[in-house]
Amino acid sequence: MTQVDVLILGAGAAGLMCAIAAGRRGRRTLVLEHAERPGKKILISGGGRCNFTNLHTAPENFLSANPHFAKSALARFTPQDFLALVERHRIPWHEKTLGQLFCDRSAHDILNLLLAECAAANAHIQLSTRILSVTRAPFAPIGLSSRTLSSPKGEGSASLPPRLVVETTTGPIATQSLVVATGGLSIPKMGATPFGYDLARQFSLALVEPRPALVPLVLSPEDQARWCDLTGLSTDVVATVPGHPETASAKPRAVRTAFREKLLITHRGLSGPVILQISSYWRPGEPIELDLAPGLNVTAPLLHPHARRDPAAAALALRSSPSGPILPARLADRWLTLNLPATDTGTLSNAALAGLERRLHAWRILPAGTEGYAKAEVTAGGVSTGELDARTMQSHRVPGLYFIGEVVDVTGWLGGYNFQWAWASAVAAGQSA
Ligand SMILES: Cc1cc2nc3c(=O)[nH]c(=O)nc-3n(C[C@H](O)[C@H](O)[C@H](O)COP(=O)(O)OP(=O)(O)OC[C@H]3O[C@@H](n4cnc5c(N)ncnc54)[C@H](O)[C@@H]3O)c2cc1C
Repeated sequence: MTQVDVLILGAGAAGLMCAIAAGRRGRRTLVLEHAERPGKKILISGGGRCNFTNLHTAPENFLSANPHFAKSALARFTPQDFLALVERHRIPWHEKTLGQLFCDRSAHDILNLLLAECAAANAHIQLSTRILSVTRAPFAPIGLSSRTLSSPKGEGSASLPPRLVVETTTGPIATQSLVVATGGLSIPKMGATPFGYDLARQFSLALVEPRPALVPLVLSPEDQARWCDLTGLSTDVVATVPGHPETASAKPRAVRTAFREKLLITHRGLSGPVILQISSYWRPGEPIELDLAPGLNVTAPLLHPHARRDPAAAALALRSSPSGPILPARLADRWLTLNLPATDTGTLSNAALAGLERRLHAWRILPAGTEGYAKAEVTAGGVSTGELDARTMQSHRVPGLYFIGEVVDVTGWLGGYNFQWAWASAVAAGQSA
């Protein structure tokens, strides 16, 4: 039976980073991956350029049932730490916006960095291997190993007995530490599996129900008929979820989580960065709230004593202000058609204009659902943080079992935060496993 110190399941962002950290400590480290190549998701990330971190990463940029859980790992492996690695490998990069760092050339640079560091740390990667079962080692089999992996520094704890045994299509492997880095459910065609969640259930570890996040929203057939012929139009909005404790619009603006980015109308609903961001907070049955003219008083010009106050004047006001365009003309016209109060006189009263202004800044729309895991960038929820030690990612109940990356109930905003969590949680585990 093969014996290692650290066996990592999943050769994605978190698994490879953990292998580097563990391998550098001289731990005999093996990564198992069921796909025929490692890091597939890294290669498609950030539109092929991998938004590998965000300089402004803070615990507030993550969703989790325990908002404090990520603090320790994030503080001990920072965006600057990953950037130092990128620079050491002479990978050209740029800051796109809001602290988001991308490769100049391609996401291959990040994958090559990870693979080179794995090789330098003598961490082995075995591809095209299926995991059949995971069980606790029945006893401490000193001298069990008939085939062991070499360790560069020879300081791996060979004397420590394995705690878990993994059956694979290439035979059983005994390990002292088992790190689960199999990711979430998003993009099944890239090899996503529920393996991590199933394993957690097998060991009776609690899960926060997984759900698609950073995902486009789908509208009801009625709303699709109202809006979706405007496919391709986009505009700058602020989005919140009025029913969510973090994003409730009843909260003062200064303290609530709200996103100001582009909204995009799609042929089935709403997308664009602002919708992906707010989708992580959205739950079925809740409306989302959009401010279509952030920071502007659109109807103010119509209140001047000699100003026209008819729907056509309102439509013009909604298209642009003295400081620039507001809504694309077709969207402005459609929104007004569906939101203008009826007037007998053709003139909009002060109350009608005030109502329009209010609705413009708090337009509520009820999504029918999401585009699901097929289009979701990440899976929110996952292995409950209550089951894990925040410093090491090790299970409280099953010594030697670790969970890292997306499989854990820690989900980042759009903008490089999810990779930063993958790196940070991986290093936390790799320094302990
Ligand atoms: C289209 C897209 C673009 C993205 N762009 C960005 C971005 O630019 N910046 C950012 O921060 N985040 C981005 N993300 C999110 C980011 O890719 C993930 O958060 C991150 O990859 C999670 O890392 P992980 O190692 O936990 O999981 P993964 O990267 O998903 O790795 C899991 C690995 O485990 C393997 N695996 C799964 N099941 C098994 C099994 N049963 N046995 C063996 N192996 C298994 C998988 O094949 C995979 O290699 C993007 C996601 C998508 C889908």
